[in-house]
Amino acid sequence: MFNKAQIQLKTPEQFETMRKAGRVVALCLEEIQSRIKPGMTTLDLDLIARNIMDKEGAKPSFLGYHGFPAVICVSVNEEVVHGIPRKSKILNEGDLVSIDCGAIINGWHGDAAITIGVGNVKPEHQQLSEITKQALQVGINASLPGNHVGDIGFAIENFVRSYHDLKIGILEDYVGHGIGTEMHMAPSVPNYGKAGTGVELVEGMAIAIEPMLVLGSNKVHVLEDDWTVVSSEGSFASHWENTIAITKNGPEILTKL
Ligand code: MG
Ligand code: MG
Repeated sequence: MFNKAQIQLKTPEQFETMRKAGRVVALCLEEIQSRIKPGMTTLDLDLIARNIMDKEGAKPSFLGYHGFPAVICVSVNEEVVHGIPRKSKILNEGDLVSIDCGAIINGWHGDAAITIGVGNVKPEHQQLSEITKQALQVGINASLPGNHVGDIGFAIENFVRSYHDLKIGILEDYVGHGIGTEMHMAPSVPNYGKAGTGVELVEGMAIAIEPMLVLGSNKVHVLEDDWTVVSSEGSFASHWENTIAITKNGPEILTKL
């Protein structure tokens, strides 16, 4: 477990470098979103990100992280997070694809994820992605100095539960995190929780908020590749993420253009 003393606070100059890393992440995600189509492989998407990072002078956060073999994570349909890009994985019309990307500039990280529908996707899958994206924004809105980490999870959980007619699982085994000179730092930022609990948010903190939602049960397991997390029911999943700076003026998204 992390304790409060381990939380890294950033100077305005360090946030400026994190903005640069975040911009590269946003560039990668935007380019992938504009080019994704049926027939591409998930490795094709990885190459897009790899080329942009090279061009922008950024290093990928994920490549080599605990041995991860690629620049981005590409998780398709029932894959929730940590899917490994590969030549044999061909995208089809109707696939729901979550792309997670991290970049480093001068030692500072940015981390973000989006979910993209390939061609026409089923309305319930589109809706799942929309709810996850909105849940991320709800979490960002709660990221005010003086609030606590638990307020973020509480806000996200309440928002997701407001869809009474849908059974949506919120992953509990995987959570958001602090970020800075490492991709994963204190504090953990769960997508569920109690208001007013956990670490207090203070100016200078940076956190990655990343709701991971599945239709049906929130039960997941890891495939034999030791990375890919799939929903145990085989139902579709969505993942949206941004890196956020806590500032006296409120939350600022660092992973944007
Ligand atoms: Mg990420
Ligand atoms: Mg993350």
